[in-house]
Amino acid sequence: MILVVDYIIPGNMSYPRILIDINKLKHNTETCVKLARENDISTIAGVTKVFCAYEPAAKAMMEGGLDFLADSRMENMKRLSELPIEKMFLRLPMPSQAEDVVKYADISLNSEIKTIKALSESAIAQNKVHKIILMIDLGDLREGFYYDHKEIFFNSFEEIVRLQGVKVIGLGTNLTCYGGVIPEKQNLCKLVDFKNQLELKFGVKLEIISGGNSSSVHLLGKEQLPGINNLRLGESIVLGNETAYGQRIENTYDDCFILEAEVIEVKEKPSVPTGKIGLDAFGNVPSYVDRGVRKRVICAVGQQDLDSVNLTPMDKDIIVLGASSDHLILDTTDSGNNYQIGDIIDFKLNYGGLLRAMTSEYVEKITI
Ligand SMILES: *Cc1c(COP(=O)(O)O)cnc(C)c1O
Repeated sequence: MILVVDYIIPGNMSYPRILIDINKLKHNTETCVKLARENDISTIAGVTKVFCAYEPAAKAMMEGGLDFLADSRMENMKRLSELPIEKMFLRLPMPSQAEDVVKYADISLNSEIKTIKALSESAIAQNKVHKIILMIDLGDLREGFYYDHKEIFFNSFEEIVRLQGVKVIGLGTNLTCYGGVIPEKQNLCKLVDFKNQLELKFGVKLEIISGGNSSSVHLLGKEQLPGINNLRLGESIVLGNETAYGQRIENTYDDCFILEAEVIEVKEKPSVPTGKIGLDAFGNVPSYVDRGVRKRVICAVGQQDLDSVNLTPMDKDIIVLGASSDHLILDTTDSGNNYQIGDIIDFKLNYGGLLRAMTSEYVEKITI
């Protein structure tokens, strides 16, 4: 087992850090794009928010054949601005950011007339027509016009299509994120029904019917989804997971992003603390498994950068015990590796872990 990686440029070693494998990320994108296109999804938005739209990673995704890059934060949208691809703003805009939304996004997802009016006015001021996708809440109870309040939606639609600065190019939905509702033919059909009714009633053409995020990927290859022609994919591309049932997507990598942390203490200690137990640093009552005296390793990374439940050591024999703000505590007794001070330990990250570690300014980001 090699602990010291040899591709590091001397003087450029700063830990903790995330190694981003650009080629693997591009490969994952290609796999997801192919899978979607084979199932009549004609346009795909690649979602960059989990890695804070770090530009080299966003570029790799773009090169994997996406039609749009999409993000939910304005700071991230600005990072994407140099890339030659259409951009989509995912979170419902704040009315106060209307000007930036029009400036940095070609398309935004919307559900509130007041905001759409602000976007329209900003677009007119910037001599643009801003494209919008109207969100329909199919029951997951996050954003969107509620599917069962059809009259409210149709009345709003009538008002929106009259605005000069915005053009409604489609409908979208977001599922699984809040309520855990799984996308199925049954609920997604309602989105297509709305499209058909609106086109008939208002004489408009709605090009994009955006059927959700990585939780819709499980339908590809299984269910025909007539009418759904766009998906917005983050986790499926970045980690190779479909997120309705948590299955791996074939022909994808789960290690495009690897966290490296440096060992700062190695000692044999009991597994159970000595003394009366109060609350830990985060106000929780800690609990311990007594495994006897164990070899404990501390890495210099902590809760400020990640949650210890969101990472998996590449060395499968390491047990993650927990983390305080700046210390990650591991049990390496069962590992064949004799970890020493200054060694680097590698971890895979799940979605939450990656989001937090990429957001942390204390974690270096490096592409390989
Ligand atoms: C985050 C987000 C996505 C992407 O979600 P994944 O599960 O990572 O694919 C898609 N759409 C919206 C509106 C989002 O906020």
